[in-house]
Amino acid sequence: MNAPDRVDVLIAGGGLVGAALAVFLGQHPAFRALDIAVVEARPFSDNFGGAQFDPRVVAIAESARARLAEAGVWSDALAARACPYYRMEVRDSAGTGAIHFDCTEIHRPDLGHIVENSALLGPLHKTIESMDNVRFIYSAIADVRRLDGGDSLLLSLADGSELTAPLVIAADGGNSLVRERCDFELRAWDYGHSAIVATVSGELDHNFVARQWFTDYGPLAFLPLRTAEGDCRFVSIVWSLNHEEAERLMACDEEAFCRELTQAGEYSLGSIVSISRRFLLPLRQRHAVNYVQPGVALVGDAAHTIHPLAGQGVNLGFADASVLAEELGRALERGLPLGHLSALERYQRRRKPANLAMMAAMEGFKRLFDAGPPVVRLLRNDGMNLLDRLGPMKNRLIRQAMGL
Ligand SMILES: Cc1cc2nc3c(=O)[nH]c(=O)nc-3n(C[C@H](O)[C@H](O)[C@H](O)COP(=O)(O)OP(=O)(O)OC[C@H]3O[C@@H](n4cnc5c(N)ncnc54)[C@H](O)[C@@H]3O)c2cc1C
Repeated sequence: MNAPDRVDVLIAGGGLVGAALAVFLGQHPAFRALDIAVVEARPFSDNFGGAQFDPRVVAIAESARARLAEAGVWSDALAARACPYYRMEVRDSAGTGAIHFDCTEIHRPDLGHIVENSALLGPLHKTIESMDNVRFIYSAIADVRRLDGGDSLLLSLADGSELTAPLVIAADGGNSLVRERCDFELRAWDYGHSAIVATVSGELDHNFVARQWFTDYGPLAFLPLRTAEGDCRFVSIVWSLNHEEAERLMACDEEAFCRELTQAGEYSLGSIVSISRRFLLPLRQRHAVNYVQPGVALVGDAAHTIHPLAGQGVNLGFADASVLAEELGRALERGLPLGHLSALERYQRRRKPANLAMMAAMEGFKRLFDAGPPVVRLLRNDGMNLLDRLGPMKNRLIRQAMGL
């Protein structure tokens, strides 16, 4: 076997967060002359366009969009495909509680954008291709171990090759192999929910409104989409349900499913008239006790996965990537070696409290809306209506969600 190839920084996983991190690091002046490799198991291909939408979408908050724009990733093509939402409506299906958010109330052009994962990965890849110091290696990481002496890590890839690096950043998602092989302690629990995701179209336009209902079985989101030609009848649905109900709905034929969705979505798009293939994703909360150890850092879903009900997962991941790139760049400029624990710990100190706070808030929401007793429902509905009338507090909440 050939001697292992040596790289300066190895990013495990080139999903949204790994690819964004590669861009942020590659653009940092301290990394100009270094060799950054992104090892990704699945080559990227974008088979979507027109009225064919990627079933996986994310709600991108303004802070994340601004960071991507600063890096040159928020291209005109991406802006044309991304669907802004100007209003957001959150309703309790079991009562009259509702909260409305409107971008004009906080003097912003929009509240965020719904973007297909592949529509965002495309410009991230294009940006990386234009950089001399970053390269993609397409193969699955099969094993990770520390070399004798402990200063570097050795990664074995499925194609039989090996790589060493003094710094490995795990961006390999919720089931991170790097996290597991490096013995990071993990707190994980099942939400008791699975999410059905699909693209549907209704009789009516969505009018750039993102909608969410808290139903008896879990939250349902309608996330607005648009074609480049401006057809606004499509929404991506994320319907989080207890497992039993999710399986029942997955087993329904399309007509029956659309009928139930029309009702759960309170006819907001008229009747649902078409649906793509449905996917069922189990939802699990995970949080690594530590994000770092010498020579290794976790980012994005490898460090934390949260319930999709507030659409924050990838936004937290982009913030991880941005802060880590900043701290690593600062450490190099101060003459510290790559992978030095002090720089990694600064990253952890800046990101862990924010991620934990968001996870706690999502857990609280989920429990509040899981609660069945009538008195809790009544208070919940009153609370939502009260918050809806409290302009300043409501506006602070939405500005926080937008990362402003
Ligand atoms: C139903 C649902 C809806 C969501 N909606 C939103 C939303 O509206 N807004 C939001 O902010 N977030 C949302 N999220 C969360 C968001 O999708 C994730 O936080 C985000 O995709 C995480 O990105 P990542 O790059 O960290 O991980 P991933 O997207 O999981 O990427 C990991 C990458 O690593 C690669 N990989 C894995 N193992 C290996 C290996 N051994 N070797 C090489 N490569 C490997 C994978 O192929 C993949 O490309 C949602 C999640 C779900 C489940």
